[in-house]
Amino acid sequence: MESQRASRVVVVGGGPAGLMAADVLAHTGVHVDLYDAMPSVGRKFLLAGKGGLNITHTEARESFVARYGAARPGIEPMLEQFGPDDLRAWVHTLGVDTFVGSSGRVFPTGMKAAPLLRAWLHRLRGVGVNFHMRHRWLGWCGAEEGAQLVFATRDGERRVEADATVLALGGASWPRLGSDGTWVTTLRARGVMVAPLRSANCGFDVVWSEHLRAGFAGQPVKSVVISFVDVQGRPVRQRGEFTIASSGVEGSLIYALAASLRDVIAVNGEVTINVDLVPDRTPQRLSEEIARPRGRSSWSRHLQRSIGLHGVKAALLHELVLPQDFDNVERLVAAIKALPLRLVATRPIQEAISSAGGVDFVALDDQQMIRMLPGVFCAGEMLDWEAPTGGYLLTACFASGHMAGNGALEWLGRQVD
Ligand SMILES: Cc1cc2nc3c(=O)[nH]c(=O)nc-3n(C[C@H](O)[C@H](O)[C@H](O)COP(=O)(O)OP(=O)(O)OC[C@H]3O[C@@H](n4cnc5c(N)ncnc54)[C@H](O)[C@@H]3O)c2cc1C
Repeated sequence: MESQRASRVVVVGGGPAGLMAADVLAHTGVHVDLYDAMPSVGRKFLLAGKGGLNITHTEARESFVARYGAARPGIEPMLEQFGPDDLRAWVHTLGVDTFVGSSGRVFPTGMKAAPLLRAWLHRLRGVGVNFHMRHRWLGWCGAEEGAQLVFATRDGERRVEADATVLALGGASWPRLGSDGTWVTTLRARGVMVAPLRSANCGFDVVWSEHLRAGFAGQPVKSVVISFVDVQGRPVRQRGEFTIASSGVEGSLIYALAASLRDVIAVNGEVTINVDLVPDRTPQRLSEEIARPRGRSSWSRHLQRSIGLHGVKAALLHELVLPQDFDNVERLVAAIKALPLRLVATRPIQEAISSAGGVDFVALDDQQMIRMLPGVFCAGEMLDWEAPTGGYLLTACFASGHMAGNGALEWLGRQVD
């Protein structure tokens, strides 16, 4: 190899992780070629911006890193190099301002991804990053040393040499935006440990009656508490809101609990959650209010008048409580405080916001290089971690792209020495 300046790094995958790796590398003068299977980069990033691009979170460091659960030891070193504050400062260098929402979540002004991506791509082109679209990476050909990357293009197969490679191929959610997880087979064939990709931040299937599905799909169930027992037998309890979907349940509270719920389903085939429909009323108070004379009112009217239960919450109660239990105040109160809802399956990964699973951290060195494939680095959602929504996903993607970029730089330096 001649010198670091002439080194050629290939980045495969133009999501936030790959673009960040390219950014780090190109700003030091390294020649970067970025390949992506799609006609344009950053498609999932742009979609994320449709619902309000939540780029990171301002919560205290300790609670922030705890969001990565079992993957914390893998993610924490990345955040030490490029954490939430660095990310915000970096967004500002693109001429895009950020603001903190009431929940501590951080958004770019305007909440969209498009202005940020536009400015970023302009800057990347300015520092010489070459973009090669419609190049689907298929794997390598040739011996391990000097192996060439193989891409499928509209003009047939193309082989490319690289001094270092950063793979940032995403997970497997929303495959029509480019990340379809086909790389799992390719890396496993090379002996790399990859945990199966699974739905994360996803909805769950519930067997609804036609009445509930037709009348209430799309409706939010606000300010409830969900409790259940996780796979380790620990009680889980969280307040928030969720949405009735025609297939089951989805929305922020469900996504926040999704990893635990998914793990119980994996073991038991289903999970029953208890929904407290009126968390601000004690059972005692509910009993007194419900026990007031009903007169000739229907149960629906009585519950609306006595405890304010109506609409979708009342529909859930009628869906899940036996008619005879309405005449037993004790049982009715128990149901309102802990309505049992059976989740029978995780929604498919194609619909999930993100995916769990991916390249196992034990397969990587502390610079995110695949130990078995010297010079090949990994970044982003293709690594084996998961986190709830709230900006934690993008923060880790950017941070891991940053670390992989620096890892590749250091690797190139070592090759020259
Ligand atoms: C609806 C939705 C909303 C979201 N909102 C937020 C949010 O507000 N905040 C947040 O933190 N996160 C959010 N996310 C998650 C976030 O967008 C992802 O975690 C993030 O985009 C992952 O980045 P990545 O670079 O690892 O992968 P990706 O963004 O998936 O990019 C991977 C790239 O690799 C390319 N690729 C894949 N395979 C190949 C191949 N074989 N050859 C060539 N190229 C390939 C793909 O085309 C793609 O461009 C949201 C996700 C969704 C679906």
